[in-house]
Amino acid sequence: MEAKKLVQRIGDKKVVVNPPWPTFKEKEIDRIYDLPYTRLPHPRYNNKGVIPAYEMIRHSINIHRGCFGGCTFCTISAHQGKFIASRSEKSVLREVEKVTEMPDFKGYISDLGGPSANMYKMKGIHEEICRKCKRPSCIFPSVCKNLDINHKPMLDLYEKVRHNPKVKKAFIGSGIRYDMILENTNDKEVNANNRKYLREVIKHHVSGRLKVAPEHSSDEVLKFMRKPSFKLFEELNQEFIKINKEEKLNQQLIPYFISSHPGSKSEDMANLAIQTKDMNFKLEQVQDFTPTPMTLATVVYYSGYHPYTMEQIYTARNKNAKEQQRQFFFWYKKEFRNKIIRDLKAKGREDLVKQLFSKKQNNDTK
Ligand code: SF4
Repeated sequence: MEAKKLVQRIGDKKVVVNPPWPTFKEKEIDRIYDLPYTRLPHPRYNNKGVIPAYEMIRHSINIHRGCFGGCTFCTISAHQGKFIASRSEKSVLREVEKVTEMPDFKGYISDLGGPSANMYKMKGIHEEICRKCKRPSCIFPSVCKNLDINHKPMLDLYEKVRHNPKVKKAFIGSGIRYDMILENTNDKEVNANNRKYLREVIKHHVSGRLKVAPEHSSDEVLKFMRKPSFKLFEELNQEFIKINKEEKLNQQLIPYFISSHPGSKSEDMANLAIQTKDMNFKLEQVQDFTPTPMTLATVVYYSGYHPYTMEQIYTARNKNAKEQQRQFFFWYKKEFRNKIIRDLKAKGREDLVKQLFSKKQNNDTK
């Protein structure tokens, strides 16, 4: 494993800091993934019925480790690293072959992915710049010009997997960072590959529903999360509808959102409900913020302050405040309607009540 020492100046002292650069070389990561795993649950489970987590992963393949997204609520870059360690095509294809030989394999690979599905083989163009870089995210607030976001290696790999006669479908179940797909780089070929990637995923690698994670609709909250503006999700939705039409498909786009993230107020959640309603979504894939170790969002959750700016940040912490935010995901369900109206009126936000429960939508309400 490569681990160069980095010397940093702190005050008038020079100190050697833990290298931010320990990442597996291809040969090393291949060696780990090529070990003769049984692909079975730990013997302690001793055939004790269905293990849901195992069901999810038994026919899935990890093609890389690490994530350079740097979302403030996520620990992946803390425990897998910001730099991507990718397996070789050969190693991935060997595992595909192994999966196809499993007695219960019916032709479907449930995921060909990683922490973020579409970071395979991505890295800095000039890696010496990356070694000194202190940005927590390579793609927020904008995609770094030094980051190679060409999706070609994934196009090639997916195609090879599709050509395996024993594979009926290989799904991409991991989350896709659509900001990199929609980014307009100075390289036309890269842009074309990235757009092609989206089309290929929709055409060949979606089990009927493509899951993406805009996480919120408030640009202020998104900025704090280090996630792209909601406008980009709207653009993706348009592109998704267009590709479906052109390819005569009927796939669904499933957005994931988080309520009660530090910085999110219940009015922001009301706006999230209004914006997604206007896009004809009825949300189902949602979660309430859960503090996780080693993340910026968790520091804010516990302290109430942003440690970089010392600005005080509102965070919904108690059960009632959290439920108040969560209910907006399900505004279309009868059991939440009266409570939502009551809460918004108490805040003097009749305008939001009107927007959320307009006449047209009342007719749609289940
Ligand atoms: S220079 Fe750019 S690509 Fe390299 S680590 Fe920094 S942000 Fe990421």
